[in-house]
Amino acid sequence: MKLLADFSLEEMSALLAGYGEKPYRAKQLFEAVQLGKSWEEMTTIPKALKDTLSSEYTPVGCRIEKKLVSKDGTVKYLFTLSDGNIIEGVVMRYRYGNTICVSTQVGCRMNCAFCASGLGGLVRNLSAGEILGEVICANRDLGGDLKNRAITNVVLMGSGEPFDNYDEVAKFLRLLNAENGLHISLRNVSLSTCGLVLGVDRLIADELWVTLTFSLHAPTDVKRSSIMPVNKAYPVAEVVEAAKRYFKASGRRVIFEYTLIKGKNDSQQDALNLVSLLRGFPAHVNIIVLNPVKEKGLKSTPRMEANAFCERLVKEGLSATVRRTMGADIEGACGQLRRKYIGEKRD
Ligand code: SAH
Repeated sequence: MKLLADFSLEEMSALLAGYGEKPYRAKQLFEAVQLGKSWEEMTTIPKALKDTLSSEYTPVGCRIEKKLVSKDGTVKYLFTLSDGNIIEGVVMRYRYGNTICVSTQVGCRMNCAFCASGLGGLVRNLSAGEILGEVICANRDLGGDLKNRAITNVVLMGSGEPFDNYDEVAKFLRLLNAENGLHISLRNVSLSTCGLVLGVDRLIADELWVTLTFSLHAPTDVKRSSIMPVNKAYPVAEVVEAAKRYFKASGRRVIFEYTLIKGKNDSQQDALNLVSLLRGFPAHVNIIVLNPVKEKGLKSTPRMEANAFCERLVKEGLSATVRRTMGADIEGACGQLRRKYIGEKRD
């Protein structure tokens, strides 16, 4: 089955033109797909056309398998894809709107020391329409439509490395921004990367201006390589250079994420090394307190020490804050819920 959510409006027009349909029909179908409608619910599309299309196409390739709501309002979804694979997406509620954190791959091959997403390796890439499907399903489930969106912001920070699936991620960004679709501005989109420099340069060439976030997690190559194997391919200095290129091209301030791991990267010396690395670059440092993953055997830095680490950065002139944790009672960290669910099904 092919996925209609993978089609841009132009591609859908071309598809329907092949069936002798007028352009307005493509617009109707495109909107119906973006709204997350099933074939039965698409009342504006003639039955004969639906019968023809439905033998080859499915509208949105994911459905909500499970939904958990945290005490703080965070909603965690498990989505089942057409081939039975499971991915997760999280909606965080803020004063200014709702943000969904989407997955870009099933699993991940980056194997960062603290992260649950890489535990089973990479299963496969998601297509643009499957990534969009997470947004479509959540928007519909939370009572939104195309005018009054329940989802206003998107972060690509769920399972997977976006730049390891560049083409589909770039297409997803364009679909998300499409005028006849959800029309979410790229200003309201954050993309987090472990630092695949080639992806940064492709984003610049494609002029896709999002809030680009780099998972740094250590200020020196020795430490970063021990936490993130990808550092052997793209060392710290190259990642920071790429961040500077993106800032220069986009004018948008980049963010560095720094997950504090007890005894690994949380000393005052680490803070000072981070200051020397980023001095003079107007970026923001987002300090994350580790959400420990049992299989990884790493501990989180106590909150007081995390605050002290952050204060040190600020005192030395960096812009830094400690990110507040959300949804910890519903396995909020990347890949945790999916693993738990798959594990339970196996038992
Ligand atoms: N591959 C991309 C996006 C996915 S990870 C990247 O590396 O940026 C997104 C963020 O989730 C990372 O910055 C990481 O710090 C955070 N993260 C993953 N597992 C975590 C955990 N167990 N505790 C706290 N943060 C975690």
